[in-house]
Amino acid sequence: MNRSISHALFERAKKVMPGGVNSPVRAFKSVGMNPPFIARGYGSHIWDVDGNEYIDYVNSWGPLILGHAHPAVVDAIKRQLELGTSYGAATEIEVKMAELVCELVSSVEIIRMVNSGTEATMSAIRLARGYTGRNKIVKFAGCYHGHSDSLLIRAGSGATTFGVPDSKGVPGDMAKDTLICKYNDVAMLKDIFEKYGSEIAGVIVEPVAGNMGTVLPHMDFLRALRDLTGKYGALLIFDEVMTGFRVSLNCAQGLYGIKPDLTTFGKIIGGGLPVGAYGGREEIMRYISPDGPVYQAGTLSGNPLAMAAGYATLTLLKDNPEIYHELANKAEYLKKNFCEIAKENDIDIKINNVGSMMTVFFNDVDVVDYETALKSRTDMYAAYFKEMLEQGIYMPPSQFETFFISTEHSYEDLDKTIEAFKLAMETLRR
Ligand code: PLP
Repeated sequence: MNRSISHALFERAKKVMPGGVNSPVRAFKSVGMNPPFIARGYGSHIWDVDGNEYIDYVNSWGPLILGHAHPAVVDAIKRQLELGTSYGAATEIEVKMAELVCELVSSVEIIRMVNSGTEATMSAIRLARGYTGRNKIVKFAGCYHGHSDSLLIRAGSGATTFGVPDSKGVPGDMAKDTLICKYNDVAMLKDIFEKYGSEIAGVIVEPVAGNMGTVLPHMDFLRALRDLTGKYGALLIFDEVMTGFRVSLNCAQGLYGIKPDLTTFGKIIGGGLPVGAYGGREEIMRYISPDGPVYQAGTLSGNPLAMAAGYATLTLLKDNPEIYHELANKAEYLKKNFCEIAKENDIDIKINNVGSMMTVFFNDVDVVDYETALKSRTDMYAAYFKEMLEQGIYMPPSQFETFFISTEHSYEDLDKTIEAFKLAMETLRR
C-alpha cells in the first residue's frame, strides 16, 4: 500500500503537534509504524488520504455502533446545523436525551451532559467525594477512565497499595487517595475495604474492561462490588463510557443485573460527536450545581449537534433492539474463525468479547486482569496488525485495546477480515 501522502502529513504534523497527533494512540507508536491519515468514512469502511480503503474495526474507539456517516445521524446533525451550533442555553433536545437515557438505564434517574468521557468520570468522582464527604477512591489496574489526575493511576506491584501516578504532572498527593485493586480479585477488594472502608468515597470500574483489551467481569466480582460499597457507604460508579449502549441497550449494568449508584457515559451517546454524561440516583445527583454544592459546568455541555447525533443513534438502537443480537452473531462468527485459523497455524491466541467489543490477545493464558493481559506478545500483535493493515483491515494499533463491530459490517466484510487473518497467521508462523 502506498501511503506517501499520509507520511508527508505525519512529518508536517510532528512539527506542530506533540507526536503529530491529538491523542497518543493515534501515533501508532506501539506497532512501530506511521499512521494513515483518514480522509473519509462511510458505513464499515474508511479511506485514507492516499485513497487506500480499509474495513474499520476501530470505529473512532467505540462511538460508531452504526458505522460512519449513518444517514439517520447525518440527517439529525444537518437539521440541527441549520438552526445553529451552540447557544449556551437550555434546549429541548437535552431534555429528550436525558429522558431517553433515564428510560433505557433504570439506575439513572437524573443525568448531566458533559463533553467527554474524561469529564464524566472526573465529575462523578468529585460528586462521590462531595456526597460522601470522603476522599479515597478505588480503581482497578488496567481500567482507563480518561486522563483526570485522580484516575491516571494504575497498580504498583499488585499488592494493596496507594497508587503511583502514571504521568508526570499528577501530584503524588493526589495519587495517594486512589487505591488500586486487581480486576476480578474479590479477596483483594475485601481487604481494601477492611482497611480503608470508612474513608472510601467510591469505587469506579469498567463493568466490562475495554482498555487493557477486552476483559470480562466475573459475576462474583460484580456482586462483591455492589455488596461492599453498599456495606461501607461508598458509591459504586460504573464507567460505561465504552460499554454504554454497546453491550446491550441497557448497558453492562442491564446485561449483568447490577445497579450502580452512578454511571458515566460517552462514545455512543454522542453518535460520533464529542460528548460525555454522568447520572444516577436522584438523591446523589441533586448534589450537583445548581441544585447542590458540587460544582460542575461547561460552555458546550449538552451541545445541540452532539445531542442530535446521540439522540438519533440511541433512538435507532431502541427501535431496533435486534441489532444487539445481530452484532453478537457477527462477533461469534469472527471469533470462531479466528480461533480455528490460529489453531491451524499453532499460534496461541485468546479472544475475549462481550457482544461486539472484542480483543485478540496473543497470549497462552486466559486474560482475566491486567497482569494476564500484560503477558501478551506485543511483538506478535504488532506483526499481525501490520499484516492486517496492509490487507485493508484497520484494527486498533495496540494489543491493549478493544475493537468494535458496527451494524454496517456485512458478512462480506467479515469474510474479507477472516481471509486477511488467515494470511496474517500464516505469515506469523513463518
Ligand atoms: N472511560 C472509558 C471506559 C473509556 O474507554 C474512555 C476512553 O476511551 C474514557 C473513560 C475517556 O473518554 P474520553 O476519551 O471521551 O475522554
